[in-house]
Amino acid sequence: MGAGLSFRPRIRPRERLSRFSSIRIGGPVGAVVSVSSAAEMEEVFSLKCRGEMPGPLVFVGRGSNILFPDQGFEGTLVRLEPAALSSPLRWTENGEVYVEAGYPLPALAREASRRGVGGFEFLSGIPGTVGGASVMNAGAGGRDFASLCKSVTVMSPSGLVTTVPAEQMGFGYRTSRLSLSGSHFRRPASSGDPLDGSVVLGALLAGRPGSPEECQALLLRHLEYRKKTQPLEEPSLGSVFRNPSGGPPGYTAGRLIEEAGLKGTCRGGIMVSPRHANFFVNTGTGCERDFRELLEYVSLRVRERWGIVLEPEVRVWNA
Ligand SMILES: Cc1cc2nc3c(=O)[nH]c(=O)nc-3n(C[C@H](O)[C@H](O)[C@H](O)COP(=O)(O)OP(=O)(O)OC[C@H]3O[C@@H](n4cnc5c(N)ncnc54)[C@H](O)[C@@H]3O)c2cc1C
Repeated sequence: MGAGLSFRPRIRPRERLSRFSSIRIGGPVGAVVSVSSAAEMEEVFSLKCRGEMPGPLVFVGRGSNILFPDQGFEGTLVRLEPAALSSPLRWTENGEVYVEAGYPLPALAREASRRGVGGFEFLSGIPGTVGGASVMNAGAGGRDFASLCKSVTVMSPSGLVTTVPAEQMGFGYRTSRLSLSGSHFRRPASSGDPLDGSVVLGALLAGRPGSPEECQALLLRHLEYRKKTQPLEEPSLGSVFRNPSGGPPGYTAGRLIEEAGLKGTCRGGIMVSPRHANFFVNTGTGCERDFRELLEYVSLRVRERWGIVLEPEVRVWNA
């Protein structure tokens, strides 16, 4: 993030969370603030501390992995966005790049490919930000964010900026230390991690040498595969469930759901996508309650059919 910029962040009161969610679900929120520099983030923490901004603070990138609550919440949604006045990407000569938290993953993949820096292509179809990917360890096609990450820079609620080496980020399958912190989402009990409440400001990433032609060809293959297999034109949160470790070899969560005969199953306005069984899509009027009911129903039917307990990959708000 552009550390030198110190504009007062723009605060919008009484917004709806659905506007900030890729599945277009979520009720009223106390305020939304857009942040695109470390200085703005520091100001947000200090406004919150002085009681001039409704708390709690919830950080969000593109909201492409969060199921927001229908009843909304009284706090502030802090939306990380790419800086308009400084470069959100800083390349070094050896192919490393520092990327600000609000920068979109597909744009990062395109930029790396254009430069002939390999390894970023799998990010091209993941509609989130670098901040969200640092928290979720986003991945696809056998690659994940951890495989690119050298370090993640975070700011604590007291304004302290720390660079955390990748080895200390606790990256696992779609998890990190940061996904286990933050009390708004269903998750394992808090570990009292010193990173609790911190926001990601950016990440230092490293690819491998390649050629622009090879990188772009691979990037296009990733995108074409997604277009063929995923309902990209409909509002969703991507994969709902994590792939289970038990179960028949090669069976993903999607295959377990599909072979349990659940494609096309609906609860209210939320449907198991007929294109990809691990995607739930909003057919227009879907809400959090519909999503939760479908999630419970699909979990139950998969458990009955396969004896496997599916765990959500999406960030489900604490009821
Ligand atoms: C069509 C579609 C396809 C998808 N495909 C994939 C895929 O192939 N692989 C995959 O892994 N995921 C996939 N996803 C899910 C999602 O895009 C990823 O999890 C992505 O990394 C989330 O990024 P985001 O910026 O939208 O994060 P959000 O959904 O906004 O947030 C996710 C979590 O990160 C936290 N967070 C976000 N930014 C910050 C920050 N700066 N500081 C601190 N905390 C923060 C949020 O509080 C939340 O806990 C897909 C989603 C969709 C809709």
